[in-house]
Amino acid sequence: MSLSGQYDGNNIFAKIIRGEIPAVKIYEDEAVLAFMDVFPQSKGHCLVISKTAEARNLLEIDGQALGAVMVTVQNLAKAVTTALNPDGLVITQFNGALAGQTVFHLHFHIIPRYDGVALAGHGHGTMADMADLKALAAQISAAL
Ligand code: AMP
Repeated sequence: MSLSGQYDGNNIFAKIIRGEIPAVKIYEDEAVLAFMDVFPQSKGHCLVISKTAEARNLLEIDGQALGAVMVTVQNLAKAVTTALNPDGLVITQFNGALAGQTVFHLHFHIIPRYDGVALAGHGHGTMADMADLKALAAQISAAL
């Protein structure tokens, strides 16, 4: 999907927000949801989305909703650091299929980096074990 187009209310993250499909949640309030990526590029890879904005990408979200998302991105980055002690953190966000975006509901990735550990490819990872993801989510949420 290019940068121009319509928001699809049946995208997978919209379904997660509505509770139609499961997610391993870390944090949720009325504006924002954070959950584990099921194809993690590293241990602790998680995602932050707006629950209120029907925005496919960064260009479409209003500033107030974006502000709520970014505050949670920072809080979660701190919690991931406390919980998992990574050596670095990558925050990514893709706009449009050509840029690497595969789910067209705006989201920010928080990807911990560990010294000597290569990243799994974006969109090529192996599906994580759900028990492992739940344990990681519990560790991260306890550090929030
Ligand atoms: P992007 O390619 O930036 O659009 O990222 C989409 C991300 O969503 C990828 O890292 C996928 O691994 C992840 N993903 C896809 N489906 C799910 C799902 N059901 N639950 C959690 N993460 C997902």
